[in-house]
Amino acid sequence: MSTTIPHWIDGARTTGVSARTSDVFDPATGEVARRVVLAEQADVDAAVESALKASVGWGESSLATRSRVLFAFRQLVDQHRDELAALITAEHGKVLSDAAGEVQRGLEVVEFACGIPHLLKGEHAEQVSRGVDAYSLRQPLGVVAGVTPFNFPVMVPMWMFPVAIAAGNAFVLKPSERDPSASVRLAELFQEAGLPDGVLTVLQGDAVAVNALLDHPDVAAVSFVGSTPIAKHVYARGTAAGKRVQALGGAKNHMVVLPDADLDVAADAAVSAGYGSAGERCMAISVVVAVGDVGDALVEKIAARTRELVTLPGTDPRAQMGPLVTSVHRGRVQSYVDAGAAEGASLVVDGRGYAPDGHEGGFWLAPTLFDHVTPEMSVYRDEIFGPVLGVVRVPTFEDAVALVNANPYGNGTAIYTGDGLAAREYQRRVHVGMVGINVPIPVPMAYFSFGGWKDSLFGDTHVHGAEGVRFYTRAKAITARWPRQHGVDLGFPTHG
Ligand code: NAD
Repeated sequence: MSTTIPHWIDGARTTGVSARTSDVFDPATGEVARRVVLAEQADVDAAVESALKASVGWGESSLATRSRVLFAFRQLVDQHRDELAALITAEHGKVLSDAAGEVQRGLEVVEFACGIPHLLKGEHAEQVSRGVDAYSLRQPLGVVAGVTPFNFPVMVPMWMFPVAIAAGNAFVLKPSERDPSASVRLAELFQEAGLPDGVLTVLQGDAVAVNALLDHPDVAAVSFVGSTPIAKHVYARGTAAGKRVQALGGAKNHMVVLPDADLDVAADAAVSAGYGSAGERCMAISVVVAVGDVGDALVEKIAARTRELVTLPGTDPRAQMGPLVTSVHRGRVQSYVDAGAAEGASLVVDGRGYAPDGHEGGFWLAPTLFDHVTPEMSVYRDEIFGPVLGVVRVPTFEDAVALVNANPYGNGTAIYTGDGLAAREYQRRVHVGMVGINVPIPVPMAYFSFGGWKDSLFGDTHVHGAEGVRFYTRAKAITARWPRQHGVDLGFPTHG
């Protein structure tokens, strides 16, 4: 055990004043690789004070300046993508190619934010009344904060801070304490790109830091991505303190397979989307809904592919899946496998008890597949967030729609079919924020906005894209006249 991962405050690494730390593991070996500092109130105050000071100058900077700094940052992230991917794999455990994919999807939000001069253009109406023009502006909020989960330590922060900063705010990021290194590196790269000190802060910590940010009078808005119970807490506490909050929560994503679907294509998709990143993706498919008589053939095809998957340390080029993030999380996921078997689901592929040679201490669970899952079972009801895929069998399309719509989560869903009309019907009627048609993980591109419905999002604004710009700015409507004539008029202003 060596390094202590610091905060990034006022453009420099600092361990702050708190004496509290948390262990950061190498999930492939189970060893404590680093420690991360955990902020106390005084660290939060120092971080927000620095951000507030920086927000004034940055909010006054020209759009051309902001755009140029973002272009330079884009270039640096691109140059350092392998280094960033290695940092992700070292602390999260996902395979390197997956980590590189995450960097790429984050980079796309930077590319979107490079267009900020266009994105901030307001509206203008000439001659709304005689001699009067009306127009609107979008202005930054000041200091905004982001609280992010462990599963995408680069991409999820980059859903937020490039857009917030491009819009003229200072941003305080509180990354997950489980894989906190990459965010400090991103902040260093942004400084190298020309970002003034204090505009991007990384505040390491746990609930103490999050609650202090939620209560802090100088933080105007909070973006949160994480589990549903914490998302609810963040939304309630942040809005009670008068802040703008967008809080994205957990998921239970269903993939509906209709009888006319190509079952090989559907099985490939279910396995890729179910076990990629060891199921630790908010858009992972965790439930396959087999409609009509496709169940037996589909389960056979999924099981054959599942058994072939190679689970090894993320740095091994042969690995398709790595370990889970921590021992505690692996234990929780495994307890769902125990529960599913006890509740009567058929355990078709059992991933328990697996460990690659030489890595027995790592947080392993091989891909696991259940058939004949029913909605009352805990493996169906709860978000497991691991490599556990369950198949629910339903007789008709209507039953599939009813099942998905009765689920409290509404993040992502997919339908596999060759019938365009059925797909269109599903897309219209399903109560889910992101829908894939023969696409298993329908994550919107950076220039659209990402967000779920129901218990997968608290607040009304999705992240990045146009909604992200809206979230990090507030509108001002101007009505302007340049009069030449005098005269008092106590009437209510109308046009004419
Ligand atoms: P988590 O909710 O445990 O933690 C998220 C963040 O909240 C972390 O920064 C953590 O330090 C902080 N936190 C934890 N407990 C807190 C508390 N009591 N009070 C205040 N803050 C607290 O989530 P996680 O385990 O890091 O990430 C996995 C979860 O994130 C899954 O539920 C997954 O579905 C969800 N997720 C959702 C999306 C989405 O877009 N909807 C994307 C990625 C992950």
